[in-house]
Amino acid sequence: MFIRTHHCNQLREEHVGQTVTLAGWVNAYRDHGAGLIFVDLRDREGLTQLVFDTEDSSQDVLDAADKIRNEDVIKATGVVRRRAGTPNPKLATGKVEVVVTTIEVLSKPDQLPFIPTDEENLPGEELRLRYRYLDLRRTKMQKIIRTRHRVTKVARDYFDAQGFTEIETPILCKSTPEGARDFVVPSRLQPGEWYALPQSPQLFKQILMVAGCEKYLQICRCFRDEDPRADRQAEFTQIDCEMSFVDRDNVMETMEGFVRTVWKAILGYEVPPVQRMTYHEAMDRYGIDRPDTRFGLEIADISDLAAKTDFGVFTDALAKRRGVVRCIRVPGGADKLTRKMTDAYGEFVKQFGAGGVPVVKYTANGFETGVARFLEPIKDELAKRLGLEPGDTVLFGADAYGTCVKAMGELRLRLGRDLKLIPEGQWNFLWVVDFPMFEYHEEDGRFYAMHHPFTAPNPDQVGAFLAAREDDRDTIESIVSAGYDMVVNGSEIGGGSIRIHRKEVQERVFTLLGISKEEAAEKFSFLLDALRFGAPPHGGIAFGLDRLVMHLCGTDNIRDVIPFPKTQTGADLMSGAPGMVSDAQMKELHVKSTWEPA
Ligand code: ASP
Repeated sequence: MFIRTHHCNQLREEHVGQTVTLAGWVNAYRDHGAGLIFVDLRDREGLTQLVFDTEDSSQDVLDAADKIRNEDVIKATGVVRRRAGTPNPKLATGKVEVVVTTIEVLSKPDQLPFIPTDEENLPGEELRLRYRYLDLRRTKMQKIIRTRHRVTKVARDYFDAQGFTEIETPILCKSTPEGARDFVVPSRLQPGEWYALPQSPQLFKQILMVAGCEKYLQICRCFRDEDPRADRQAEFTQIDCEMSFVDRDNVMETMEGFVRTVWKAILGYEVPPVQRMTYHEAMDRYGIDRPDTRFGLEIADISDLAAKTDFGVFTDALAKRRGVVRCIRVPGGADKLTRKMTDAYGEFVKQFGAGGVPVVKYTANGFETGVARFLEPIKDELAKRLGLEPGDTVLFGADAYGTCVKAMGELRLRLGRDLKLIPEGQWNFLWVVDFPMFEYHEEDGRFYAMHHPFTAPNPDQVGAFLAAREDDRDTIESIVSAGYDMVVNGSEIGGGSIRIHRKEVQERVFTLLGISKEEAAEKFSFLLDALRFGAPPHGGIAFGLDRLVMHLCGTDNIRDVIPFPKTQTGADLMSGAPGMVSDAQMKELHVKSTWEPA
């Protein structure tokens, strides 16, 4: 026998006349005087109205009911009846109430730091994180927790049906290079040695393919000691997959099936076939490798026209290595964009390294205001190329390619938000493919892997890649990887690639990335060894579970979807982690702290 016979979202008219026992938290109570008290009892399923009155409840019960307060945990037994008052159409149990004959207070809270059900008067996030158990009592949070559970369940069921096996990989391991800083753990048994927490199970899942597992899945925790960013947590969860004997299309198809299944199961939404866009196209048209295609305002290249002007901003930019001039046409911008806004955009792009945003209006008389006079030599061609209509505004960017497209891409997103062009309730899925393998960083004059160092070149470029000289920057920059990112509404929800399964290709990538033979042997000898002993072609992907759940629950705060999240400075305000350890523990771990209080 359970303590309760029903949950708080279960009773309907068909239960009228039955004696039931409910248990839960007091969500609200209303004392109408003259021995008539109403209590809304809440559990995770919903609310039921309890009634205490002189006719049906004994004096003891009435006395007890009189002392009830919000968030008391109570158990009540009584008879279900049709509501004497007006039914509440907002509640599934709104047609009935329970007339209480016995009540037991199971737990009486102290003075609460806040009332979790009072959504209008919630305190700041810090207090809510400190008393996370109260915060999690909120209906919204309960819903998120259960949606998260359903997403992982759908994932497990989907991948199971596709023949995947869930396999656990170690948490205490050697550093895996996903490009972030490792969290490390000192070893007591091997003095002076450290484990790293996995930034992802990348190498283990590849090894599992060499081991013949063929289809691997893991819903796993990953750890990256990155600087605080609003939408990141140092500790996060991935839906991590790897498959053998596949090409890029096979992986992408399987993963499309997954998102389709999740969106259908959680939101009842049919995801249409997912379009593909190359990295270069994404950068050219949207200035970002995860374009939000829910609205237009695409970026246009007008470098050839700009070269015909003598506008210094344009000509100086074009003189740079890969210098370009790009622009965004804002239809009807003359009315929608105020001077104050366009001035702010000029400031806004500076954080992305751009110098400013030249602006011009297009009217029935041609270009006016802003940089109109500089456009004189190209006025007709420009108006034609951009398809300008009177009332439009054009915003320009001029710089080296990378800086220019990034600034224009950010500006486009800001315009989309400012002009409210981004539709709600629409899901634009997109695969971004054909990323460059390597990115050259001018600051330190070396190549970095755009995805991670285990990503394979596109099959038809392997030969060119192996043949390219290390100092042939143009050729190396032109090598495209067999990687793919899945993007929804401008947010990357998953990314992966076909992997290198030949040792000589892997070694060549390490060399290009400046990883010496010794370092490669020290860090990845197990992978290089495994590649020598019969590795199947393989590839995979990882979806960010937290991000998926954020989308599905419509929140933009990552801490909402993680039951016990950390703050931007990596603190768990509830448990107090991180904390000090004792000198004895430090000694045992062979560790000395150099930190001193300021
Ligand atoms: N390990 C990669 C990541 O965490 C995903 C993958 O390539 O499968 O981003």
